Amino acid sequence: MKSNIGVIGLSVMGMNLALNMADNGYKVSIFNRTTSVVDKVMKEHNHKNFSAFYALKEFVDSLEKPRRIFLMVKSGSPVDMLIEQLLPLIDEEDIIIDGGNSYFKDTIRRERSLREKNIYFLGVGISGGEEGARFGPAIMPGGDEKAYSYLSEIFEKISAKAYGEACCKYISTDGSGHYVKMVHNGIEYADMQLISEAYTILKTIGDFSNEELAEIFNDWNNSELESYLIEITSNIFKVKEGEKYLLDLIMDKASQKGTGKWTNLEAIDLGVDISVITAALNARFMSGLKDERIKAEKIILDNNEKSLAKNDINKKEIIELVKNSLYISKIVSYAQGFKLLSAAEEEYDWNFDFAEISKIFRGGCIIRAKFLNDISDAFKSSSNIDNLIFTDFFSREINLRLNDLRKLISMAVERGVAVSAMTSALGYIDTYKTPRSGANLIQAQRDYFGSHTFERLDKEGSFHYDWIDSYDE
Ligand code: NDP
Repeated sequence: MKSNIGVIGLSVMGMNLALNMADNGYKVSIFNRTTSVVDKVMKEHNHKNFSAFYALKEFVDSLEKPRRIFLMVKSGSPVDMLIEQLLPLIDEEDIIIDGGNSYFKDTIRRERSLREKNIYFLGVGISGGEEGARFGPAIMPGGDEKAYSYLSEIFEKISAKAYGEACCKYISTDGSGHYVKMVHNGIEYADMQLISEAYTILKTIGDFSNEELAEIFNDWNNSELESYLIEITSNIFKVKEGEKYLLDLIMDKASQKGTGKWTNLEAIDLGVDISVITAALNARFMSGLKDERIKAEKIILDNNEKSLAKNDINKKEIIELVKNSLYISKIVSYAQGFKLLSAAEEEYDWNFDFAEISKIFRGGCIIRAKFLNDISDAFKSSSNIDNLIFTDFFSREINLRLNDLRKLISMAVERGVAVSAMTSALGYIDTYKTPRSGANLIQAQRDYFGSHTFERLDKEGSFHYDWIDSYDE
């Protein structure tokens, strides 16, 4: 009997996805470049729905047609190499699926070149790490819609479920699934940075203990902030090693794998402001400069007396200020992520349904959160909206809390506490709501030194002024 699907790449993700598919009743052929890994997987998980293969040809021959071949290997050249190895073995209309964290432009290129050979290629964003892969990830499939129809049942079955719905929805053509996954990762960076800033303020200005912080985050998890990251943060505060809290022993250097960088490079390419996500990436860079930060504390002397004053703080008030600021900043980071998706839709000729995309994120992935329901509803009720923060629901949420964000940032600035992602969120809102900005001066300068011309408010057209010698000394 032929297998329903084949998985190549049996590291953490591939092995757990294969097990997930097998648990859901699918016959799964498995293959890995290093064949000892196949033996290891079979030894540890001799699933009745698994068929193990040690040669690519036999693996391919074991699959029902059209063949569904799921690659879960290191992104980059391994994907191209595997495609090259598979091409002589597969037939027209077979489907290669790349479930790794591939760069979306590679996916566009691969899809195009395989389409010319009448082979389907799906680029599928998968989120949720090991646990998600095993018991239900969020799945973002991009590529030919007909090819997807051969995978939709399997994907929907293995995906996470949230509010009774599968966290898997066809995104759009070629690289769109990997693009959405990339933006999702950028939002994840922002979410984590914002929570870390909330923690920093509560700890340094509010002087809260780890036990109190656990309690605060636990309360927040029963509010509009309800989310996986808030929940695990509350748990993290409670973990002790002997007398000490583990968190207090962890080095304050945050690492990264690169997808946050891609999101930022892409935003620059498309000219979209994703300042909160950028601030989150910068904060990771700066966190790595531990030795320099220790030096800087002794070089840049802060004479501001407020930086030491903690006693004038009302603890209850600061919790409320931080909660509201975190919520607004989170809204802004999602709004920026969706704004980038909106620009990409135009640039790459995709067709996104933002209400559905936000629903995919509700389960399986790290950014799962209750407020994704509100995002989905907001997009549904106001299709064609320029920005998520303009929707009735979110503009009201922001208006109710904006003064608190302002107050908190002022407090942090006065005391020299760095909260760059929250500050970027406030800057974004303030920039948006300024109909008359200072960009007229930039235009004047550009025209002054480079004759770059400018538009005028009082007349149509493009103008140049002969600035030199036309002013009084
Ligand atoms: P890795 O990214 O560590 O990749 C290891 C797998 O790739 C192994 O099976 C390895 O085979 C295979 N491989 C590497 N080079 C080649 C090659 N040239 N030819 C054939 N196979 C090759 O594994 P993960 O399971 O962590 O991730 C798989 C993919 O999923 C990656 O793209 C990753 O970015 C993505 N991803 C990972 C998540 C995670 O939490 N880990 C979450 C979401 C996505 P061999 O054993 O022979 O070396």
